[in-house]
Amino acid sequence: MGELNWAGNYEYRAARIAAPGSLDDLREAIGSATKVRALGSRHSFNALADSAELLVSTAALPPAVRIDEQQRTVTVGGGMRYGDVARHLQEAGWALHNLASLPHISVAGAVATATHGSGDRNGNLATAVRGLRILRADGELVDLRRGEPGFDGAVVSLGALGVVVEVTLDIEPSFDASQRLFAGLPWEAVATQFDSITSSAYSVSLFTTWDEPTVALAWVKERADAPSGIEDDFFGASALTTPRHMIETMDVRNTTEQLGVAGPWNERLPHFRFEFTPSNGAEIQSEYLVPRARIGEAIEGVRRIAAVVAPLLLVSEIRTVAADELWLSSAYGTDVVGLHFTWVRDQAGVEAVLPALEAVLLPLGARPHWGKLYLDRDGIVPSLYPRLDAFRSLARTFDPEGVFTNAFVARYL
Ligand SMILES: Cc1cc2nc3c(=O)[nH]c(=O)nc-3n(C[C@H](O)[C@H](O)[C@H](O)COP(=O)(O)OP(=O)(O)OC[C@H]3O[C@@H](n4cnc5c(N)ncnc54)[C@H](O)[C@@H]3O)c2cc1C
Repeated sequence: MGELNWAGNYEYRAARIAAPGSLDDLREAIGSATKVRALGSRHSFNALADSAELLVSTAALPPAVRIDEQQRTVTVGGGMRYGDVARHLQEAGWALHNLASLPHISVAGAVATATHGSGDRNGNLATAVRGLRILRADGELVDLRRGEPGFDGAVVSLGALGVVVEVTLDIEPSFDASQRLFAGLPWEAVATQFDSITSSAYSVSLFTTWDEPTVALAWVKERADAPSGIEDDFFGASALTTPRHMIETMDVRNTTEQLGVAGPWNERLPHFRFEFTPSNGAEIQSEYLVPRARIGEAIEGVRRIAAVVAPLLLVSEIRTVAADELWLSSAYGTDVVGLHFTWVRDQAGVEAVLPALEAVLLPLGARPHWGKLYLDRDGIVPSLYPRLDAFRSLARTFDPEGVFTNAFVARYL
């Protein structure tokens, strides 16, 4: 049918895509097929979202945005994009605790894969979920709230329980933030002062191609209500005085405002502007969430194979995520550091490099990002999730016929 994901590296095999405009139509569409998957904004890089028969998008459902100031929550349609939710919140004086590098992704799709931003004390986007409304294959709507049995399993669901039609998220009063970039961070500082570097501001990301003499960029985001006190020197790196894209050849206009200019949280926490193409466009991404205690070994290991990795790489980002209790979260039970790889869009080339990378990272307990390209040829990933059995039972309860199972999730169910 020629329907592609956002990056254009994956063609969906489903026979049909439906975008119902009402809950009744969605229920009817689901009832019309034996195999269904929910499709978000198509920003995943693998077969996770695909279905053997029907894909249903929730993007055309009415985009509910209900702010409950007393409870400090916002309830939104699952298909809404973070950028739209954030605009509503900012206009009403509220904020989310964090955002991913891009605001273009759907809330339900991002949450289903444990999508994250950066910051030692920031949980991933799924940790902000306080409630879910899920439409099951049998047409029943199920509401789950934080603290209820099964909730911790249902948030990062890989789409395997049903279609999430509404998500309730924690909110906090709106805040201003600013970002500055520093060039030339010595590897020695990364090796010996990693904790001091990543804890020095609300969110710190490092950008490198691994084969360079210093880490090209440190990207530091701070909240106006918690100034970092960082001046022009950042652990040996120097403050930039002109804005930059993390991929040197890309247009800096795609990135959110830099140089320490304060602005609303939703226009500073993502690296990329909502109005422009994020990242590179024609690309593939992989990411491995390394338990924080093993990050020194992981960085050393990737540097050792830099000559293999760098030729296909546009850029890598190193960022931190706080531990959580969500069963299939890549940060389940441990603080993690994401080693992210933005590759050129050469599927065969990237797949040829991944075994070397995974030989370094998977034995350290690194969990691959569910929505990005990974191989796991030795089938290690299930052993990295101690609550996988509990998730399997939850999935059987929600979806006994396996309507929402595809080949990708069947490996885990
Ligand atoms: C340029 C770019 C930058 C990125 N930056 C980051 C980043 O900073 N941090 C990060 O962690 N990731 C990042 N990602 C990855 C991205 O956040 C994830 O792949 C995310 O899952 C994409 O959400 P989506 O709505 O596009 O989901 P899709 O790719 O459409 O679907 C992903 C999964 O969610 C499920 N799903 C979607 N909607 C629903 C629903 N309504 N109900 C139930 N299940 C549903 C699907 O079935 C599927 O299993 C980036 C991706 C791109 C392309």
